[in-house]
Amino acid sequence: MKISFPYMGTVVIYKKLLELLGHEVIVPPRPSQKTIDLGVKHSPEFACFPFKVIMGSYIEACEMGADTIVTSGGHGPCRAGFYGEIHKRVLKNLGYDTEVIIIDSFNRNRKKVMENIMKLKGNNSWLKLSKAVKFTYDMIQEIDKFDKKIREIKPYEVKPGSVDRAWEKIQKEFDNAYSKRELKKAVKRSNEIINSLEISRIDERDRIRIGIVGEIYVVMESSINMEIEKVLGELGCEVERGHYLSEWVDFNLVPSFLKKSHEEEIIKKGEKYIEIIIGGHAKQTVGGIVDFKDRGFDGIIHLMPFACLPELVTQSIIPKISKEHDIPILSLSIDEQTGKANNLTRIEAFIDLIRNKKLNKYSA
Ligand code: SF4
Repeated sequence: MKISFPYMGTVVIYKKLLELLGHEVIVPPRPSQKTIDLGVKHSPEFACFPFKVIMGSYIEACEMGADTIVTSGGHGPCRAGFYGEIHKRVLKNLGYDTEVIIIDSFNRNRKKVMENIMKLKGNNSWLKLSKAVKFTYDMIQEIDKFDKKIREIKPYEVKPGSVDRAWEKIQKEFDNAYSKRELKKAVKRSNEIINSLEISRIDERDRIRIGIVGEIYVVMESSINMEIEKVLGELGCEVERGHYLSEWVDFNLVPSFLKKSHEEEIIKKGEKYIEIIIGGHAKQTVGGIVDFKDRGFDGIIHLMPFACLPELVTQSIIPKISKEHDIPILSLSIDEQTGKANNLTRIEAFIDLIRNKKLNKYSA
C-alpha cells in the first residue's frame, strides 16, 4: 500500500507509525495556495474550509502515487462524519481509485476501529503492531512536550528566529528515531537544543499567556492559520493550543478505563455552556476557555473555519463566557482568503488591550 494522510500539525508522527508497519508512506506537501486552490475547485461550495484544504491535500497525495488514505472520523451533527465518504467520491470522480480508511473513536465504535486496524496491520504480527503503536504513542507524548515548550520560550528568544529553527531541528531528531534507544537519544538531543538557546528572563508580571481554542484542524495546522502561534510569539506572547495530537489520541483512542484524558476534564468545564454534543470540538472550545482562565492565561484566541456550524454556535456564547470569567476573547474566521493584514491588525490590537489590562492591574 502507498499510504498518505491529511497534513495536520506534526506530521512526523503519522509517517512514523505507517513506516514502522512497513508501508510506503507518501507525505503530502505542507498545504499551500496550490493545495487550497485545488481543494476549493473540487469541493462542494458550502463545505467547511478544512474539508477543502484536506481535499486539496489528498489530490496532491494521489498525484504523488498514494493509493490509500488514512484519516480520522467524526460524529454528531457535524459534517466531519461525512468527510471520508465525500472525499472518496470526489477522488473517484477525478479518476483516483483511492481507498480511504477512517479511524474513528475507539470508545464509540470498537468493531469498526478494529476492522480498520486490521487493514493497516496487514501481514504484521500483533506483537509488531503493538510495538509500533506503543513506540508512536511514546513519541507523540514526547514531541508534544517540546511543542509546548517551544511556544512558551519563543517570546523570549534573544536571536530572532532561533526558537523556530530549534523546533525544526527537534522534529528532525524525532523523524530519525525508529527504536526505543533512538527515541531516548532524540529526547536527549532535543533537550540539549532547547538548553543551548539564548532566552531572556522577564518579570512574571510581564508575561502574557494566550490560549488558542477552536476547531481542531485550523488550530493545529499552522499553514492555514497564518502561523498564529509564531505571530503571537513574535508579539511577546506565550502560547498554548487547545488541541494536541497526544491529547486527541488519549481522548479518542485510549480506552477510558486505561487513562483519563485531560480533554474529559475540559469538556466538563464547558458543560454549563453547551450541554449536548453539537459536533466538532464545540464543547472542547468552551471548556478550553474556562480551563485556560483557571490556569491563569490572560486571553484567548478562538479560531473558527468558515462555514463551521459548531464553532458558529460557540461564537454566539463567547461574549457570555468572556464576561463571566473576565477574560478577553478574540474570534477569527479562517477561510481561503489568505490576506493576513486584517487579522494581523486585529491580533495586534487584542494583545495591546491585554497588555494594558495587565499594566492597569499591577499599577492600581
Ligand atoms: S467541526 Fe466545523 S470545520 Fe470541522 S468538520 Fe465540523 S463543520 Fe466542518
